[in-house]
Amino acid sequence: MLWLFFVVGLLVGSFLNVCILRIPEGTFWYSARSRCPACQALIPAWLNIPVLSFLFLRGRSRCCRTRISWQYPVVELLTGLLFAFIYSRFPFWDFLTFHFSVPNLLRFLHGSILFSVLLICVVIDMRHHIIPDVLSLPMILLSVPVFLLHPELTWKSSLLGILVGGGIIYLIAWSYFLIRKEEGIGFGDAKLLAAIGGWLGYQSVLPTLLIASVVGSVLGVGLVLLQTLRTKRIAFQSSLRMEIPFGPFLVLGAFLYFFFDIPYI
Ligand SMILES: [Zn+2]
Repeated sequence: MLWLFFVVGLLVGSFLNVCILRIPEGTFWYSARSRCPACQALIPAWLNIPVLSFLFLRGRSRCCRTRISWQYPVVELLTGLLFAFIYSRFPFWDFLTFHFSVPNLLRFLHGSILFSVLLICVVIDMRHHIIPDVLSLPMILLSVPVFLLHPELTWKSSLLGILVGGGIIYLIAWSYFLIRKEEGIGFGDAKLLAAIGGWLGYQSVLPTLLIASVVGSVLGVGLVLLQTLRTKRIAFQSSLRMEIPFGPFLVLGAFLYFFFDIPYI
């Protein structure tokens, strides 16, 4: 069953790649067939097999030998591992006894939908430094069916999650703007943490923000040191303006919270 959900995850991952490519372009609802981004040639279905096609083509497109981004197999593999992991946490169908667990199915759908959308947000944030409202806002609204259907979530923890998650980052962003007169942390991050709070409950907000800040700072300081070593000049002043997308760290924090299932902080 784990292998089955790994393969399902690979297929979903290849759909997530389409979302990552098309949502920032605003071409999501255009032609269904995928085309080579370099020469616009149609990609035949047998070259759209997750991971395997990339390996078979050795990372270059067949039409014009353009290098294919590592993003494609990495997103597919991550989604495959994600689905297998979430199924292992919430196995909803016993192959031998045919026992079917509806609560576990709901928990599985909840986790896999949430982290699929968050994975799209991560890659788009890394590539374009934005978190599209077309992803974060519907996720906030979908918190309502989520707390209605999910076995553990309540409307209180979900609603409080949206308010605390969005509010904390909004406050940080606003005070940074007042002090430095420029946007430091994006308001896109506020909507992202509001969505995470709505889907995982208010208990998830502080651990998520804490992990994101610690990992983000360590990586930020590391980048400053690396730049200093490379240019043999203290990069401190310029690096104060270094732009590091925060969304990926928030998603990492949310995933670790979900993974270790910290009940209350
Ligand atoms: Zn091509």
